[in-house]
Amino acid sequence: MFGGPERVLEQAIAALETAEVDVFAVSATIRSTAIGPSRRCYANAAAILSTNLSPPKLLAMLQSVETHFGRNRRGQHWQARTLDLDILMWSGGIWTSNRPALGIPHYAMRERGFVLGPACEIAPDWRDPLSNLSIRQLFHRLNQPKPILPA
Ligand code: AMP
Repeated sequence: MFGGPERVLEQAIAALETAEVDVFAVSATIRSTAIGPSRRCYANAAAILSTNLSPPKLLAMLQSVETHFGRNRRGQHWQARTLDLDILMWSGGIWTSNRPALGIPHYAMRERGFVLGPACEIAPDWRDPLSNLSIRQLFHRLNQPKPILPA
């Protein structure tokens, strides 16, 4: 066992710092409840990494850290997971590949407050190349009241 969600996250971020990856900045950790049937509570944070690894190589490294912390990739999609590491954006703009399945910016980034909140703390001016909005703008947009559509 690696401890509660905050402790797992702290250790995972420490494990990212290697000869090939420099952890440049880390946000504060926030808590969120799980999406889907899992009853778990998650700890969420964002980090800026500096690396010469290609996006697929970085993904493979993130997955090896997930595996180390006990995530079972063969299980159902929304099972209780120990750790989920995603690439939100990278300095090269848009990336899409099938093998490995990888899309950057991350497909759900714009709809998730628990992603945008921590990311906004460390990289508010980074621009999403698909919407051309900054992380700060995406986060504020998410927090605006939604218009009620007539039935
Ligand atoms: P999930 O369990 O929802 O995080 O999905 C994990 C899978 O999503 C991984 O096996 C990746 O191949 C794929 N994936 C696609 N885009 C990304 C991304 N930007 N960051 C991390 N995983 C991604």
